[in-house]
Amino acid sequence: MSKITQYLNEHILGEVTGNESVRKRFARDGGILSITPEIVVHPRVTNDIRKIARFTWQLAEKGHVLPLTVRGSGSNHTSSAIGKGIIVNTIAHLNDVIYINQKGKDQFVHLQPGVIFGTLNETLMSHGLIISAYPASKLYGTVAGAVASNTAGVVAGKYPKIGDQVQRLEVVLANGDLIETGRINKRELDKKKGLQTFEGEIYRKIDGIIEDNEQLINEQITKYGTESTGYSGIAKVKDRDGSFDLTPLFVGSQGTLGIISELVLSTDFYNEEESVIVATFSDATSARKAASDLLPIQPTTLNVFDGQLYDIAHTHGKKYLFSGTATNDQVGAVLVVSYRDYSDRTRRRKTKKTIKKLSKVQTTIYSSNDHPIEELDAIREVYSVILQPDTKDESVPSLIDGSSIPVDRIEEFSSSLSELAKKHHLELPTIINFLTGAVYARAPMHLKQLSDKQKVFKLIADYAKLVKEFEGTLCYTESEGRLKATALYENLDETVVDLYSPNSFSF
Ligand SMILES: Cc1cc2nc3c(=O)[nH]c(=O)nc-3n(C[C@H](O)[C@H](O)[C@H](O)COP(=O)(O)OP(=O)(O)OC[C@H]3O[C@@H](n4cnc5c(N)ncnc54)[C@H](O)[C@@H]3O)c2cc1C
Repeated sequence: MSKITQYLNEHILGEVTGNESVRKRFARDGGILSITPEIVVHPRVTNDIRKIARFTWQLAEKGHVLPLTVRGSGSNHTSSAIGKGIIVNTIAHLNDVIYINQKGKDQFVHLQPGVIFGTLNETLMSHGLIISAYPASKLYGTVAGAVASNTAGVVAGKYPKIGDQVQRLEVVLANGDLIETGRINKRELDKKKGLQTFEGEIYRKIDGIIEDNEQLINEQITKYGTESTGYSGIAKVKDRDGSFDLTPLFVGSQGTLGIISELVLSTDFYNEEESVIVATFSDATSARKAASDLLPIQPTTLNVFDGQLYDIAHTHGKKYLFSGTATNDQVGAVLVVSYRDYSDRTRRRKTKKTIKKLSKVQTTIYSSNDHPIEELDAIREVYSVILQPDTKDESVPSLIDGSSIPVDRIEEFSSSLSELAKKHHLELPTIINFLTGAVYARAPMHLKQLSDKQKVFKLIADYAKLVKEFEGTLCYTESEGRLKATALYENLDETVVDLYSPNSFSF
């Protein structure tokens, strides 16, 4: 055991290990890259995180850099939860829901960072509440991991991005100090700026950055932008009335500014009644047209899945409601629409209207009026099947997932994407969310083969250019991480890249 692991084990309540198999286990996350850390720590209390941060800070002052990377479940696709120094694993012990407030208008939940999203929502649902911006990885992803990546929810409701639901955070800073974020007024800001602590230094620095870059922030990184990149939350820190909130800065910053040790999130009301309609089409263009036509009915979810995704699932042995039917060979795309309106009458009316509209086009319809909802759920969760690598080591890595394109340009974008796929000799089946414009595109690849390995960064670079051409957002569903950073920064304005550099943000 190294001296450092021994020392840390003596000083914290949690566990510290340099064991090779544990380190290897933490060398990967949901992305394709790999870095083996030197040490893995499972903190039991916030004070453990503070002690580790203080220790590495003091080491750095003596010239020995041991970087800290905080981690939830490691499900992000961009290799941002791996690093070479110490991995701080929050999921092992820091997973308590501290308090649920159901009273009054301000309903919220207060929790630790390592709580699994699905577990949280199950707890909340028993109180008639939900965090509606949950990602599709809800069964294993942690809440702090989602906040640090500013994930986009599957449901594009009142809060399409998790960042919109964060009220306050408790954060351990790089030197081990603990701060609480939340909106403060101008007088309180002046007080914070007067503190002779690291916290005071941060308030002074951020206020200075905002003052010096007002025009750039207003013009290039607007408050309403959806890009989860760099430190785009800076646009939401200071309001016109002079009030100030550091929370948006930590949202989406992928653990680079501090370690979130507690969170307070707004909750939404939850309705367990849902009606789901699935329609199969012979081609994707017709499915996309039908989806656009359904927008005025205001569905809760509205997605179009390329038929190729089901072809891949079929090769894994999976069967769906429409599999094996006479028309099976012609499933070019699948449209899935759902309604979760509170009023039964509204839900029934919208479902009826949808079926009526779809009946007018060439499609086969399956609805929760006639089929168990679980069978329809399996259709919309096709990704969970195709993400498993097959026996020939073919996998569908997430390289260009989660951009967003203006909804009225999706048809045009889809043709350009087909051209891009041809250029790279790949299939690029997509899932398109018609409420947010989010596009999930995944190519089946053999990453153990050199030819496919070489395609990775070229594909990401070309895709980033294409998204820019369509005035879209490359990192809509999660922040850029190691994987997309280069391509993203090449397409951002130089002044914005400068603003996001460690010269400005180093705390
Ligand atoms: C099948 C699948 C489906 C997915 N669906 C979606 C989706 O619908 N929408 C979407 O946006 N994403 C989605 N993702 C991506 C991923 O699940 C999200 O980014 C996820 O919420 C990350 O949570 P995590 O606990 O796995 O975080 P990790 O991967 O462990 O960490 C993610 C980032 O957060 C940082 N971090 C973790 N904990 C903290 C903390 N306490 N303080 C500060 N920083 C921290 C890490 O350093 C890292 O940079 C999906 C992934 C998979 C595998």
